[in-house]
Amino acid sequence: MSLTRKAWQLLVGFLLVGCTIGQAAVSIPQPTVTNSPMEAALLPTLGATVAPLPATQTAVPTATALPTITPVVSNVQATPSSTATFAAYGVAQTIGYSANGRAIESYRFGFGSQSIVLVGGIHGGYEWNTIVLAYDMIDYFLANPDEIPSNVSLYIIPSANPDGQFTVTGVDGRFTAGDVSGDIRLGRFNGNEVDLNRNFACDWQPEGVWGETVVSGGVAPFSEPETAALRTFFLRERPAMVLFWHSKADGIYVGSCENLFQPSLEIAEQYGRASGYTVYEEFSAYHVTGDASDWLATQNIPSFTVELKTRSGTDWEMNLAGVLVLLDFYGR
Ligand SMILES: [Zn+2]
Repeated sequence: MSLTRKAWQLLVGFLLVGCTIGQAAVSIPQPTVTNSPMEAALLPTLGATVAPLPATQTAVPTATALPTITPVVSNVQATPSSTATFAAYGVAQTIGYSANGRAIESYRFGFGSQSIVLVGGIHGGYEWNTIVLAYDMIDYFLANPDEIPSNVSLYIIPSANPDGQFTVTGVDGRFTAGDVSGDIRLGRFNGNEVDLNRNFACDWQPEGVWGETVVSGGVAPFSEPETAALRTFFLRERPAMVLFWHSKADGIYVGSCENLFQPSLEIAEQYGRASGYTVYEEFSAYHVTGDASDWLATQNIPSFTVELKTRSGTDWEMNLAGVLVLLDFYGR
């Protein structure tokens, strides 16, 4: 085999994302069971949710191509703190690293071609309740894998700004409310003191605002390793939609760049009806530059922000109802 590891990753990424590959998708995750006994126990459960390959989709590579996935499997990393805890969360992958070198993890449930991505903690420890919510959502789907439609892959990125999380909690990976201390405002930024939700390529400015406070949007769009990792992940996965949890403006804000992006509005309204949050076509409290959801609209990827009601609660029932509607909407 003369292809480089990167080329294999791209090839496998294409197989996973670009095709509706029943057999390959079912088979590819299996080597990850070598990572730990707990993952080995988990994967058959997840695999059971994958529908048999329709006869019309047999043209994709068969099991003979499976050795090519080995490089991807090697990317699966355990969190340093607890391999056992990590393994219980599903098929996990490190999608990048923060400015200070902390892993950004993605947890995947299901192996369908329609990808739904839920992102917590882009504002780090300042909005730590969004990270707790994302981990709670991971627990829910670990316990209820049958809720994932066979044609859906649900990705949960619980902590998109692990530097900011660490600033407030002193913890990498999962934490509890009891770990939160100090001035949580300091946990909004990454290790370069950049507001990551001012660093995306829609109406980007080197300085943005957060209320009346001037914040850094980075030296260029995607100058930060966290946002660059998210961009790479989104453009590779081409998800059906992406949700970002923030707190605490209490509402749903539609991702649009310049003009209203109707697909974002449509899926936001679905989530709004199920959850009870009010849907707003734009955030009007102050002018937001370089927003992640807005940039996704430029890539024709529907996206919206859910602002929780408080800085400490998770609005669990509301958000579970919303996520289940997303699964229903994109499932078949
Ligand atoms: Zn926020």
